[in-house]
Amino acid sequence: MEKDILQFQDMGLDPRLLRSVQHLGFARPTEIQQEAIPAVMVGRDLLVSSKTGSGKTLAYLLPMMQRLLKSRALSKQDARALILTPTRELAKQVYAQLRLFVANTPVTAVLLVGGENFNDQEKLLKRQPDIIVATPGRFVDHLEHKSVFLQGLEMLILDEADRMLDLGFLPQLTIINKAAAHRLRQTLLFSATLEHTDLDALSLALLKNPFRVSVNSGH
Ligand code: ADP
Ligand code: MG
Repeated sequence: MEKDILQFQDMGLDPRLLRSVQHLGFARPTEIQQEAIPAVMVGRDLLVSSKTGSGKTLAYLLPMMQRLLKSRALSKQDARALILTPTRELAKQVYAQLRLFVANTPVTAVLLVGGENFNDQEKLLKRQPDIIVATPGRFVDHLEHKSVFLQGLEMLILDEADRMLDLGFLPQLTIINKAAAHRLRQTLLFSATLEHTDLDALSLALLKNPFRVSVNSGH
């Protein structure tokens, strides 16, 4: 007999989010989504290791959207959620997926990657988006330029944290962590592996009593 599956509809997600999931044609959550989404929805920090293709993007996009839709902003002018990825390509993919979920909601999002016009990005930031999807280098440029503020950041999400460390982004991650020190911040860290030098130190610095999810078996 197949083991019981927690369905998307059983997770307490906003109907607008469920409609977007349906639109994507996803019949049921992956293993990592079944583990991670409920833990994030009760407010836990998260440390996830699972292989490529296991569905990590929705494991954070859905509960992040849920929190932003259901709670008031901690601060009016600051970003509410920040998603960091190691590469421009990944940031663009995540942003494309996110756009489907913010559509038909009051939540706004911007993409901030290197290689694109800094002043144009500053103009987008003046509109005070709720969510920022960014690469760490360009994001820190904006932070230092005071085009963005993080005191009221509610969710910090690191996608492919191991690759960010490989690319030498530890100093930028440290700066961002310090700038986003609200006591109600929730932090989600995703990685393909936990066997990475610096990952222990990073998770210790960023996460409070994290719920750990590790799915590295087959499907
Ligand atoms: P990871 O970040 O773990 O590598 P992704 O989030 O990129 O995984 O998802 C891998 C692929 O699986 C993507 O094409 C995504 O659209 C698809 N996917 C994600 N969640 C589901 C689901 N619940 N059902 C079916 N396909 C899914
Ligand atoms: Mg991924």
